[in-house]
Amino acid sequence: MTLTSKTAVVTGSTSGIGLAIARAFAKEGANVVINGFGDAGDIEETRAGIESEYGVKAIYSPADMSKPHEIEEMIRLAERTFGSVDILVNNAGIQFVSPVENFPVEKWDQIIAINLSSAFHAIRAAVPGMKARKWGRIINTASAHSLVASPFKSAYVAAKHGIAGLTKTVALEVATDGITVNCISPGYVWTPLVEKQIPDTMKARNMTKEQVINDVLLEAQPTKQFVTVDQVAALAVFLCSDAASQMSGANLSMDGGWTAK
Ligand code: NAD
Repeated sequence: MTLTSKTAVVTGSTSGIGLAIARAFAKEGANVVINGFGDAGDIEETRAGIESEYGVKAIYSPADMSKPHEIEEMIRLAERTFGSVDILVNNAGIQFVSPVENFPVEKWDQIIAINLSSAFHAIRAAVPGMKARKWGRIINTASAHSLVASPFKSAYVAAKHGIAGLTKTVALEVATDGITVNCISPGYVWTPLVEKQIPDTMKARNMTKEQVINDVLLEAQPTKQFVTVDQVAALAVFLCSDAASQMSGANLSMDGGWTAK
């Protein structure tokens, strides 16, 4: 148990990678704030399940990551409930696939808001408390698309490159405050986010579902395998450990070798 008495806020943790990270933190003894959309009953089941399985406290924040005042309120809720936000994982994200000339402007704005600006707002709200306590861990879920592009994902690729830049900048600003700031860049992980983009990718590339999975997704990764949510979560736990206290401003790839190509 490496995170006993710590509080972790994980945005976008009702599903996929974020949920695996929240569970992994709870397993290490942290109290967690889960966030994201979904069926109210399912979310409550998840929250209560984390508490009973790991013996920690878990609360739910319904904050919409496209709304700055709700993001700040999520951080304040965590501080009021637990006394601190020690770990912040900016993980909420959405995807949209379209040729740039048809890319809906409102989708561009929404992706930049949720995938990039939300991290800025959450960091802005959480850093003063971390500085006061001289300890903090900020982890941003970036993507292989923070390093390389794919066609038809202009907003997503731009947002993820932005997250990598935000990570490095904030890491420099808080380096003497006991706070590390890193991003994790997974390759393809089989989650609802990836599954939902398949029909639009089929359309944009004129491919079948099987071709998208094999010739686009798995083809990107030299291992020819999807990354798993638990593998990403294990890296997040490592970044919160004492062994990683000198690791900051890094963009850590977990992409089966994709970005080495
Ligand atoms: P997912 O769809 O399973 O989870 C996304 C989470 O974000 C959900 O909990 C959802 O409710 C939440 N969310 C979406 N919009 C929100 C909003 N406005 N406010 C609050 N929460 C919101 O997808 P995932 O694959 O687990 O994605 C998590 C992160 O990992 C994203 O940032 C994504 O870009 C990144 N990522 C995913 C992959 C992949 O292949 N799945 C690869 C690299 C990076």
